[in-house]
Amino acid sequence: MTSATDFDAVVVGAGFAGLYMLHRLRGEGYRVRVYEAGAGIGGTWYWNRYPGARCDVESMQYSYQFSEELQQEWEWSEKYATQPEILDYAEHVAERFDLHRDIQLNTTVAAAVYDEGGDVWRLELDGGDVVTARYCVMALGCLSTTNKPDFPGLEDFQGAVYHTGEWPHEGVDFTSRRVAVIGTGSSAIQSIPVIAEQAEHLTVFQRTPNFAIPAWNAPLEPDEVRAIKADYAGLRAKAKARQTGVYFLSNEFSAHSVNAAEREGIYEEFWTRGGLSFLGAFDDLLVDETANATAAAFVRAKIREKVANPALADLLAPQTIIGCKRLCVDSGYFETFNRDNVTLVDVSEDAIDGFTASGLTVAGAAHNFDAVVFATGFDAMTGSFTRIDIRGRDGLPLNRKWEAGPRTYLGLCTAGFPNMFMITGPGSPSVLASMIQTIEQHVDWIVDCMGHMRDKGQVMIEAELADEDAWVEHVNEAAAKSLRSTCSSWYLGGSIPGRPRVFMPYIGGFPIYVEKCDSVAAADYAGFRLA
Ligand code: FAD
Ligand code: NAP
Repeated sequence: MTSATDFDAVVVGAGFAGLYMLHRLRGEGYRVRVYEAGAGIGGTWYWNRYPGARCDVESMQYSYQFSEELQQEWEWSEKYATQPEILDYAEHVAERFDLHRDIQLNTTVAAAVYDEGGDVWRLELDGGDVVTARYCVMALGCLSTTNKPDFPGLEDFQGAVYHTGEWPHEGVDFTSRRVAVIGTGSSAIQSIPVIAEQAEHLTVFQRTPNFAIPAWNAPLEPDEVRAIKADYAGLRAKAKARQTGVYFLSNEFSAHSVNAAEREGIYEEFWTRGGLSFLGAFDDLLVDETANATAAAFVRAKIREKVANPALADLLAPQTIIGCKRLCVDSGYFETFNRDNVTLVDVSEDAIDGFTASGLTVAGAAHNFDAVVFATGFDAMTGSFTRIDIRGRDGLPLNRKWEAGPRTYLGLCTAGFPNMFMITGPGSPSVLASMIQTIEQHVDWIVDCMGHMRDKGQVMIEAELADEDAWVEHVNEAAAKSLRSTCSSWYLGGSIPGRPRVFMPYIGGFPIYVEKCDSVAAADYAGFRLA
């Protein structure tokens, strides 16, 4: 494309997004380099090695579809694959498509500065090296920067400190140890039952209870796999037509359109199927508060059936909108609280005061343990961007542009930062859909766009500010219609002190979004300035 840069494109991150981006760009003949902070590829599945870590989109759908051979040859063993199996899959993909040779591991991109004179990005690596590229593709991940609350006195704690998202590779043996887990989101809900089986005692610190639906995980039946593989494209097409990019049986009528007994029967049926598809029981659960309340009441009753101590069940049963915070999928989570070696501490009113040498205190009461697990989540969606010193036109820092919340055109680009693409950026469906599906759609769109520019001899693409503003307004309007924007969650930067309260992903649904992206491309990249 040009010999004046080190690379045509630099990709930051080697998770599923970075890997597929590399494969596509190299296939189109571009000179590409991927930089990855970790010592291995796989992103989420490289970092999150905590006990019990799995996907909660079914394995047969939580996988790439770009290669028919790949999806035919890979064998998932369970309905929901474990973290090691997903990481093996990422490694298999990297080897099968010979990706490793263009990936530089153990390398954090510290800064990315746009040089207006040459329409070139200069990237500064943590070792001090600088590389240049025409395009900078941010494949940073939406859930890749951990959130570690700044508890006073943590440095005095004499025990071991872990975060689910930075789990030691050698594993952790909790046998005979008193363990604390802070947080009750998806990572906690997956890890707590496993840690409880090993630890001498487990204390869980809960600020907000969460709804969880049983996974009913099981080995995959060969007949089921054969049937899917006989028409994988058919399943993918059905998934693509769904709001969430995942196919499962769902109803297209209101919770109010049936009587109470019928409604209960339908919830029971969806409970028995398990997992995230529970919210497909009726089509108004995320838009109608009274409809949602019927689903929430059903799940609360289930929690009460599972937890022997009624007072404990009350603490564990959320009184909030189901699906407002991301729904969790569990395997024996609530039952774990029936164990003699598990204690729940409610920190909703009295927050954790801070740490001591032997544990932490809540309202002055000491809780002592040998190890603490932070299951406190991520600085989601924008955290990995804010950690890079990204500067666009006139030296404008991205952090300043996004001070009041992220602003993008289609979650793909942001005005003032030409030739910088984001994969699953804020303002795209990303985390509200099955992510490998959304990653492939973004990567394909970006590669097509670059091909269009190459054909026309263009070297610069930038989102128009007016189109970006209109898109942001649309993203906000869509969010306002959903119950999902009504509570504190990581979708809104909820757990990060000081983050502006902005609903970051696009909630209008995957099919509408794909249609919008395709129509923009078909109209010669309407809303972008190309030069
Ligand atoms: P990541 O996998 O997050 O990869 C981004 C990479 O960029 C990381 O390796 C990071 O080290 C690197 N990076 C970031 N900043 C820099 C920098 N400055 N320099 C160099 N490298 C950098 N989604 C689903 O759809 N279904 C699921 O079941 C599901 N389960 C999940 C379970 C867990 C525990 C978590 C945390 C997330 C889960 N997700 C799930 C979301 C998951 O993040 C995505 O599915 C997908 O793996 C994201 O891929 P990615 O490549 O976009 O980002
Ligand atoms: P999370 O959902 O953000 O949960 C973090 C938990 O930590 C919350 O319970 C939060 O409480 C608590 N917390 C944060 N700061 C705290 C503080 N100072 N004091 C006490 N509690 C505090 O993070 P996560 O569980 O890692 O999950 C993040 C996302 O990753 C998920 O929603 C999902 O998209 C993905 N994921 C998926 C799976 C899967 O099953 N496939 C597994 C793990 C993660 P509040 O709610 O009160 O803020």
